[in-house]
Amino acid sequence: MHLNARPAEAGPGQEVPAAAGVGSETMSSNVNPQEVEKFAALASRWWDKDGPQKALHALNPARLAYVARYQTLQGAKVLDVGCGGGLLSEALAKSGAQVTAIDMAAPLVEMAELHQLEAGLTIDYRVQTVESLAEEMPGQFDAITCMEMLEHVPEPASIIAACAKLLKPGGQLFLSTLNRTPAAFALAIVGAEYIARLLPRGTHDYRSFIKPAELAAWLRAAGLDLHDVSGLAYEPWRNAARLSTRVDVNYLACARKGTLA
Ligand code: SAH
Repeated sequence: MHLNARPAEAGPGQEVPAAAGVGSETMSSNVNPQEVEKFAALASRWWDKDGPQKALHALNPARLAYVARYQTLQGAKVLDVGCGGGLLSEALAKSGAQVTAIDMAAPLVEMAELHQLEAGLTIDYRVQTVESLAEEMPGQFDAITCMEMLEHVPEPASIIAACAKLLKPGGQLFLSTLNRTPAAFALAIVGAEYIARLLPRGTHDYRSFIKPAELAAWLRAAGLDLHDVSGLAYEPWRNAARLSTRVDVNYLACARKGTLA
């Protein structure tokens, strides 16, 4: 694990001690410490298929299939942003990608490190923001995945801009998030958090959900071309997900950086 040693970027008088378990850049950058703490608290059960991250386990095969539809993974240099305990990072590595993975919850990155030892993988895990990695490794990745994270950060557009900078010309960005619709409110919050108890209560805030048109505008502003939006439909009766044409709840997007960039 690479613990980012860059100093905090807060101006005078702005510095606040970081909360336990949250990377030191937290208070001065595009990170919501309460959100990161909430995820950090789940570290010990992250890989439990029936635990609080059961839904992420269920989404994982469909997300991997979506990435693989557009991106050859064997030998590709891939960055997983907001990797959590490494569910998708490991799946990408097992498909032959050379993976770097970052998250601002240190306990999750530690859990990911431990878990990959069992799996015999060599993912480069780091506690670092994507904005700071973009300064360090611009133009180095064939593909970037950022799944189920944008709805937890103060400025998603800044994450997207940093990803654009990290991609090689022709590189691809894969995103997944929740749409801001009544259906998403009913299913992802009321259904999943209160009725089925699939997710811990308070996992999601409806106001942070993102409409595809908003995502498209941020991608355009970052110089990326959106070329697909697909639904990711969770089916509770089999605790699994499939790709779908309905984008009103969970959805995936794929955008490409121009070859002249
Ligand atoms: N992408 C993973 C985990 C999703 S949970 C998966 O889908 O399997 C959201 C993750 O985003 C948490 O691990 C949380 O710690 C992380 N996160 C939230 N804000 C972040 C930020 N600004 N930078 C990096 N990681 C962040």
